[in-house]
Amino acid sequence: MTSSLHVPKGTRDLTGREVQAFAALEQVARRVFGLFHFEEIRTPIFETVDLFSRSLGETSDVVEKEMFTFVDRGERTFALRPEGTAGVVRHFIENNLAVQGDSHRLFYMGPMFRAERPQAGRYRQFFQIGSEHFGSPEPAADADTVLMMSRIFEEFGVGEFQIHVNSLGCQTCRPKHRAALLAYLKKRESELTEESRRRMEVNPLRVLDSKVDGPKLTDAPAMKDFLCSDCAAHFDLFLGLVQKETSRVEINPRLVRGLDYYTRTVFEFVSPLLGAQSALAAGGRYDDLVGMLGGPSVPAVGFALGADRVVEAHLKWRGEADKAVSNQTMAVVVAMTEESVPAAFGLAQKLRLAGFSVPPLLPAKKKLKNQLSAAVDAGAKWVILIGEDELKTGELSVKDLSTRTQTKVPQQKIISYLTGTP
Ligand code: AMP
Repeated sequence: MTSSLHVPKGTRDLTGREVQAFAALEQVARRVFGLFHFEEIRTPIFETVDLFSRSLGETSDVVEKEMFTFVDRGERTFALRPEGTAGVVRHFIENNLAVQGDSHRLFYMGPMFRAERPQAGRYRQFFQIGSEHFGSPEPAADADTVLMMSRIFEEFGVGEFQIHVNSLGCQTCRPKHRAALLAYLKKRESELTEESRRRMEVNPLRVLDSKVDGPKLTDAPAMKDFLCSDCAAHFDLFLGLVQKETSRVEINPRLVRGLDYYTRTVFEFVSPLLGAQSALAAGGRYDDLVGMLGGPSVPAVGFALGADRVVEAHLKWRGEADKAVSNQTMAVVVAMTEESVPAAFGLAQKLRLAGFSVPPLLPAKKKLKNQLSAAVDAGAKWVILIGEDELKTGELSVKDLSTRTQTKVPQQKIISYLTGTP
């Protein structure tokens, strides 16, 4: 009989090595955020629709067609959060955290929701880890954000990756570029897809983002030729700081990012191990967003990494053969007779208290040979046998699976024997 139960389209259950890798990534990220002095924030997974349409822009793909929205019993309209920045900015404004000259640094981790067409590396529920740094207009804040992400990837391990960077300018210089770009696109309108022609009218920059048309438009006016002197100096300083620390940085004049709120620095981390969805993480500066949402004018810079893709790159890079993700040593206790079950059960608890990972006892009647091969498959280091002889003598039989040796160890010395402490 086939079951009619299915995980919702575009979502998945995470199990085994994958969920272990997610947990390991969270642990690495927490450590690195600590090194850069960022604090954790957990915001609700749903917010008012209005918050997202005002922050991401009415014309962004996310707001136009990808939000999961619902109306509650009080006729209020909410959306499952499609990204993390809007909620953190809402928190920042709501709690009046803007104090002149102060910097606020927050990080978050959690599921995000977008009703996208599912494909490899693109899900409807995916997990992001990100940070927001409020209050600093300095290029050093942008550089710190990029280096923090880079450090997470290096410590977690994703193999090779590149850091693409660009500047989108500010309110002063962006309109000039926009006008030049629009004039250029108008001339080539007949070559563009319908989607690009539509984007051209609402936000011409986004045409450069198009997978189909972007690569054709190599001679499009580049933002860097239009940057005002402040934005150009900001970008140069930022580049100087990051290039001193890493050789992975590449300027990509076509990097524009899909969301409307970015100003000045934008960046994207890409991995050659992933297919079409090669972006591991992305972010940038958003100096106008806090003001746009009704707060004071506070500059900010942030990023978000896609944990699903980072984990995929990590597992590909480590290779399928490598099983040992857990850093806990595993010990298996085998009760060889029904009479030895209570002693074996007690020993399993004692080993767990000492920090060993110990799976539940298997039934005493299960063949010893099968119990041993199960222990090997699970990646155990130790197997401890308790049967009639062991109960009588008080000495346990201990197998070391890594050296394939067996010894007798008095029951009261078992922990010090396994941990190698006298
Ligand atoms: P964005 O919020 O669109 O700037 O995306 C930041 C990062 O989140 C991307 O670089 C991806 O790694 C990841 N991401 C975005 N959308 C999805 C999705 N639908 N499924 C999986 N990962 C995603």
